[in-house]
Amino acid sequence: MTLVPLPAFTDNYIWMLHDRAAAIVVDPGDAQPVFDALARDHLQLAAILVTHHHADHTGGVAALREATSAPVFGPAGERIPQPCTPLRQGDHVDALGLRFNVLDVPGHTAGHIAFYLPSGGGHATPLVFCGDTLFSGGCGRLFEGTPAQMLASLDALAALPGDTQVCCAHEYTLSNLRFAQAVEPDNSDLTQYTARCQALRAIDQPTLPTQLAVERLINPFLRSREASVLQAVRAHADLPADAAEAEVFAALRQWKNDFR
Ligand code: ZN
Ligand code: FE
Repeated sequence: MTLVPLPAFTDNYIWMLHDRAAAIVVDPGDAQPVFDALARDHLQLAAILVTHHHADHTGGVAALREATSAPVFGPAGERIPQPCTPLRQGDHVDALGLRFNVLDVPGHTAGHIAFYLPSGGGHATPLVFCGDTLFSGGCGRLFEGTPAQMLASLDALAALPGDTQVCCAHEYTLSNLRFAQAVEPDNSDLTQYTARCQALRAIDQPTLPTQLAVERLINPFLRSREASVLQAVRAHADLPADAAEAEVFAALRQWKNDFR
């Protein structure tokens, strides 16, 4: 199996997984990069997976389905170009001889889902396609969900095995890491990881996929219960002494929204 991020628009990745004969794509916001990749590698499109309804993730779905007849799978709770097989937590998608488990990860949008391929599932490592829920060093904006929902969704992703390759839908890593460093200036894992990502971007390489074990060490949104992060949030925002975890998370997310 080969995993390839296809760049789209300014900072999206359309993830493609293929076995040299057939491919699946995740969140094709634009059809053209997918058509180009299919033609270049002589691949048949076997399935189209969609994590949430935003146009930069769905804009190419109709053209790809019409040209290839590939079935479309997407969240049950959102408006996805039809026909689309609706999925929710506990469902699975079989494609390329692989079985992907569906996770509900609301927060960025109300019905956002992720696709998880466990270890032993036919790829060398576990994989998760998480759309705009978890980014390297960051997380998606809360457009439709609550902070408590997003925190629970990130907890569910963070509980996957540490060697899981996290396939995020945007190359936001360097700007996320600037914020992460403001939150945890003394996190040496973060300093090292930032240098690695800067080197990759300097030669125009993706920083993704990222490894879940790394994200647990460097991503402030997976670390909102750590003393260092808690202390930084408290120094930045006025929180009651007995603030709930979701309130701390909300203040962290707000800090990032305002961060320049
Ligand atoms: Zn989105
Ligand atoms: Fe997006």
